[in-house]
Amino acid sequence: MELWYTEEQTENVRFSIKVKKHLYTEQSNYQLIDFFETNEFGKFFTLDGIIMLTEKDEFIYHDMITHVPLATNPNIKKVLVIGGGDGGSVRELSRYSHIERIDLVDIDEMVVRTCKQFLPITASKLDDPRVNIYYEDGLKYVMNKENLYDLIIVDSTDPIGPGEGLFTVEFYTNCFKALKEDGILVNQHESPYYEKQAKEMRRSHSKIKKIFPISKVYQAHIPTYESGHWLFGFASKKYDPIKDFQKEKWEQFNLKTKYYNTDLHLGCFALPTYVREMLKKVND
Ligand code: SAM
Repeated sequence: MELWYTEEQTENVRFSIKVKKHLYTEQSNYQLIDFFETNEFGKFFTLDGIIMLTEKDEFIYHDMITHVPLATNPNIKKVLVIGGGDGGSVRELSRYSHIERIDLVDIDEMVVRTCKQFLPITASKLDDPRVNIYYEDGLKYVMNKENLYDLIIVDSTDPIGPGEGLFTVEFYTNCFKALKEDGILVNQHESPYYEKQAKEMRRSHSKIKKIFPISKVYQAHIPTYESGHWLFGFASKKYDPIKDFQKEKWEQFNLKTKYYNTDLHLGCFALPTYVREMLKKVND
């Protein structure tokens, strides 16, 4: 008998992966957590039936959500990651020896615990001494924080369920306050392709651009996310990711990356015409 995992990406589109073994299922206080083992993607995990990461393509998402801001401001020392309980963003950040402090705020302790168990490579740096883990709602955590962080990464679930608050004006305003005067906010920005996610992308972008003086969008190809075409938001108080790009400084870090490179840094901000038009409408 064949076992298949199927994700309903829209009402009319389904994405399936052949499964070797369903490793784990548990309902936490916030979401349903499942781990699967497959031939094609290695192990992967879902929250409420939506793929969060697979062993085969997680490097794309985690490279792009971390190295783009670090190559824009290579002096980033204090970082806040909201969501990201799988540890992938923390793993990439921990490769920069000059980063002094990484605060990780995930609402769900069970995600961290189960990712350590089933995805040890992704979670491998959660015990780094620079990492402080807080099990709290990110929306609450950033309230009343001022002038603390060089970078905030919002590595969240979609804006349905516990992640909803992380797509609000209140949250982005508090992130702005929590950042230092040259701070950067990067967030997973959904996909432009299917209307369901494109709507969330436009909503998120329109809110962020009202709060931050610099607000851009960049893209990556992530096979297991809806449509495979994924966007990230880059918002900043001072640095422009293209004009202030520190190519040589970043190359001096000598990090081996599998997806990100300094040519791609410039290329990923060049968006397809339909996405540009979508964003332009938001900007008008
Ligand atoms: N890369 C993923 C994606 O885009 O599909 C995101 C993965 S990461 C595991 C998302 C994390 O956000 C989950 O562990 C979830 O518990 C956490 N999360 C959701 N809502 C949150 C909130 N309000 N505050 C803090 N963490 C939250």
